[in-house]
Amino acid sequence: MTNTDGYGPELNAQLRVWIDQDLCTGDGICTDHAPEVFVILEDGIAYCREGEKTFNDPGGAAELAVAPRNLEQAVIDAAAECPGECIFIEFAELPELDGRHVPAIGASEKRAASADRPS
Ligand code: SF4
Repeated sequence: MTNTDGYGPELNAQLRVWIDQDLCTGDGICTDHAPEVFVILEDGIAYCREGEKTFNDPGGAAELAVAPRNLEQAVIDAAAECPGECIFIEFAELPELDGRHVPAIGASEKRAASADRPS
């Protein structure tokens, strides 16, 4: 499988995201970056969306929302800027990875990755 959208290096993994609602401050930075992926509900806390589905059952990584390919950078930016450090990104392991494991990116790694990008 080849990334054909012209975005970034070839990436065979699928970006998935979840929010730890216990840490969310509700400031809405994530919804500013990617309103198609993040939403603030009536409780003032952010949740992930995937199309019409909202993952509104707090509880961690049990359900991962798949980010559209064209919004992956926006999701990464949101995670890097999230003041609660509560947006977690994982990459689905696909057969093309041939058994190699792509680790989840923790908040500290996300900040480092963001800082490494040219502005
Ligand atoms: S950026 Fe982080 S802390 Fe702010 S609303 Fe989104 S998930 Fe919550």
